[in-house]
Amino acid sequence: MAPLQGELTLSFLTRLAARYQLTIRDLLAAVTDLGGLQNLTGMLYPDGEIHLNAQARARVHMLCRVPPQVLERALPAWTREEPCGKYGAGPVGRLMRGEEAVSAWGPACPACAAARTGRHVPARRYLAAEARVCARHQYWLRYLPHAGGLPVPLGRCPEVIKAQRRHVRLLHRSPTGAQAFHVARAVTNSWWEQSWPVEERAWPVAFSSARTHAPTEQAAATRHVIGEATGILRGARQLTEEQAFDVLRRSSQEKNIKLRQVARRICGQGSF
Ligand SMILES: [Zn+2]
Repeated sequence: MAPLQGELTLSFLTRLAARYQLTIRDLLAAVTDLGGLQNLTGMLYPDGEIHLNAQARARVHMLCRVPPQVLERALPAWTREEPCGKYGAGPVGRLMRGEEAVSAWGPACPACAAARTGRHVPARRYLAAEARVCARHQYWLRYLPHAGGLPVPLGRCPEVIKAQRRHVRLLHRSPTGAQAFHVARAVTNSWWEQSWPVEERAWPVAFSSARTHAPTEQAAATRHVIGEATGILRGARQLTEEQAFDVLRRSSQEKNIKLRQVARRICGQGSF
């Protein structure tokens, strides 16, 4: 099972555990087991990261069957540290969290991850603040402390995608612009939790349509679920976007069910 480029080690191990139908705790116990003792320090959190020593890394190689150099290239924290364990020699894992210990990250774009892995699974990648928009699939890859991150569909908010492009161009010209972004993030994060001022009319409508529950958003939600399903098909069968869509369409015709139901079934199962 391959890692995503720039993925957090803990995110990769969580996906690997799911592949073996284990919990992440079971997998970490197996990777750091030392004669019945668990050579693991720190607490497991959804926004955390893990450092493994060489012996623990070797066990992960055996489980995922990915060459060491591929893991090293894809996972930025893979060989960052050789942690010392509680029980001396043997495999060791050290869990950590917090902005001082773990570099900036965000949730992986669900459609990109589905295309890469052939599955519908949440993942986390190291992402600078200005990289947390997938313009292609129209997701805001929202970082949330104490959680696994939240991909927000932006189909109805093209302004956000345009603004993000402008922001990246500005950062190329003036790197200190990043400081302004951190201030803006702190401010807008608090806005998110508040109600909109009464004079503001456009943004409340745009943002409420970005959420996936109200009936008015059904068209956007359908586009997203179809995009995700074609991503899964492309990853699993090495198809082009058109070929994947064609598989969906034919399946819908043969079974006489709506395209979005076929897509939803694929996303629900995580495979086809
Ligand atoms: Zn994407």
